[in-house]
Amino acid sequence: MQKKRKTGRIVLLVCCLLLAVGGGVLALRGDVRFRMIHGITRALSRGTMPEETAPACRSVSLDALLALPETTLRYDLMLIDPAHPLPEDFLPSLEEYGDSGVRATKETLAAYAALAADALEKNGEKLLVTAAYRTEEEQRAAIAEAGELAASVGASEHQAGLALDLCVRGYGGYSFLKTAAGRYANANCARYGLTVRYPADRTAITGIAYEPWHFRYVGLPHAGIMEENALSLEEYLAFFEIDAWYGYEDYLLSRQEGPVFSLPENASSVLLSPDGTGNWFLTVRL
Ligand SMILES: [Zn+2]
Repeated sequence: MQKKRKTGRIVLLVCCLLLAVGGGVLALRGDVRFRMIHGITRALSRGTMPEETAPACRSVSLDALLALPETTLRYDLMLIDPAHPLPEDFLPSLEEYGDSGVRATKETLAAYAALAADALEKNGEKLLVTAAYRTEEEQRAAIAEAGELAASVGASEHQAGLALDLCVRGYGGYSFLKTAAGRYANANCARYGLTVRYPADRTAITGIAYEPWHFRYVGLPHAGIMEENALSLEEYLAFFEIDAWYGYEDYLLSRQEGPVFSLPENASSVLLSPDGTGNWFLTVRL
């Protein structure tokens, strides 16, 4: 009897640990085709999982989807690493930050501008960009300079214009975290659609050493969900069952194989992003 109770306590302890460590991830596995992501944590604490009715969808081809006025094609959720290199002819859509010479996608620069303004207001320190978009040639030069620290050509998020390396003057690299603005950026970047792409506790998954200076634009609500569930981009993408729809706040999210997609009726905006693994990510608002 006592042994049974002890076993019960151990099982309970293990369950609690699983809930605490990876509750969100575990909860998204299963057969339900549509779920409210924001309800998962609450539902787990009750020991049940919410099941919602799937949105009414229609089938659209890739061409038809791209031709819709509400569709935007971007690369925000593209996994870029040595196993998932950029296509050879990949040309990101770039803008320059003022006349600074810093180039990245429009959304990446806007996220930086908002983060830097808040960091300056709260901490009195300027967040500076040490690396943004790199051409293939510049990536080659970075490899020559930094050796293994720089990703191979085609495998760098900098080449997609989706990554920024930040510092405070005199505090680059790991010493960035010695500054209040550096700590602010690391703690709050998700609010701006950015993620610390290579966290200290995910090196086995990302294959890259901890880089508290390297921020990757993934956009909203993705950065927030990743932050809430402590997920790397690799884990976040894997979290979505192919062709299922998920609800989060007023977004509908789906990772699909294509080339024929299911699309909710009444979608008012559709952000389509290749995920780098051959699938596509749809971020939809009704
Ligand atoms: Zn970087």
